[in-house]
Amino acid sequence: MIEEKERVFSGARPTGRQHLGNYLGAIKNYVALQEDYESVYCIVDVHALTTVEATKDLKLNTREMALDWLAAGMDPRKSIIFVQSHVPEVMELHTLLSMVTPLGKLTALPTFKEKVRANPNNVNYGLVGYPVLMTADIVIYKATTVPVGIDQFPHIEFAREVVRSFNYRYDTAVLLEPQGKATQVPKVIGIDGKNKMSKSLNNHIELAATPEETEKRVMQMVTDPQRKRLSDPGDPDVCNVFTLHKIFSPKEEVAEINAACRKAEIGCVDCKRRFAKNLNEDLRPFRERRAELEAKPGYIRDVLADGAKRAQAIAAETMAEVRAAIGLYEI
Ligand code: SF4
Repeated sequence: MIEEKERVFSGARPTGRQHLGNYLGAIKNYVALQEDYESVYCIVDVHALTTVEATKDLKLNTREMALDWLAAGMDPRKSIIFVQSHVPEVMELHTLLSMVTPLGKLTALPTFKEKVRANPNNVNYGLVGYPVLMTADIVIYKATTVPVGIDQFPHIEFAREVVRSFNYRYDTAVLLEPQGKATQVPKVIGIDGKNKMSKSLNNHIELAATPEETEKRVMQMVTDPQRKRLSDPGDPDVCNVFTLHKIFSPKEEVAEINAACRKAEIGCVDCKRRFAKNLNEDLRPFRERRAELEAKPGYIRDVLADGAKRAQAIAAETMAEVRAAIGLYEI
C-alpha cells in the first residue's frame, strides 16, 4: 500500500540573495522536510507589496532567492517551488475568506500593530488583510502542516479560525485546518553581535558571497564585548563568532577554541580567520552548485513555471470546491 505523504506549505518573501540567517532558520529545514512531506514552497511576492513601495528589484530578488533555494538543495523533483503571483486563484480565495473574517480580529493582531508602527505612512488595506492572504496561501494547496517557530503559532491558530469560520458559514468541510509543526528556528545574530541577522540591518553574511567578501564580513564581527586585549580571557558563551563556530567548524576545533579563548591563548582575529575558513569550506558546494545552475539558460524560469503549473492544478481543484460550497452560480 502506498502511504500518502502529508502536505507541508511554507512561504517566504522575495528578499534576494539569502544569508546565513535565512539558511539556518528556514532553508535547511525546507530541505529536510521534503524527504518526509509533499512540500509546497512559495516565494510570496504579493505579500511583499504590503510593505515594499519600490518594486524595481522585485524580479531580481525573486530570481536570486529561487536560485539560492535550489542551490541549497531544495529539489523541484521532490517539492513544488513557485511564486505566489503565478497562481492568481489564491487572490480569489483571499477575497472569499475575507468575507468570514471579522475586521476587529485583524486589527487586534500584534503583528498588525507592529507593522503599523514600522510603516506608519503606509497602512494599506493589504497590510490589514495579510493574515487572510496567508491563510489562503496555506489552505488553497490543502496543506495540513506548516513549519513554524513557537512564536508563529498564533498565526496558525488564526488560519484555523478562518477555516472553521468558512466551513461553518457554508456548512462544508472543503477547507482543511492546518497544524503548526514546531520547528527549531535558531535565532541567528548578525555581525553586529546584537540583532537578528537581516539584510535591512546590513549585518548579514550572504551565502553566495565570494570567499574574500565572506572573510571581510567575518572579520567585522563583534565578539565578547568584555574582551578588550589579547591577554584578557574571553567568554565563548557570549560570543557570536563562537556560536557560529559551533555550527560550521569541526567538533575538535570548537573544543580547542573554547578552551583556548577562556585561557586567552587565542586572539579574536585568529579565531575569526579560522571561522571564515571553515564557513567558506562549508559553503563551497553551495556556491559551486549555484554557479552551475546560474549558467543554465532559462533554468530558474523553467523550475518556477513548472512549480506554478503544479501548484495551480491543486489550487484550481480547491477553488472549484470552494465556489460550489458557497453556492456561486457556475457556468
Ligand atoms: Fe569569540 Fe573567538 Fe574571540 Fe573567544 S577568541 S571571544 S570565541 S572570537
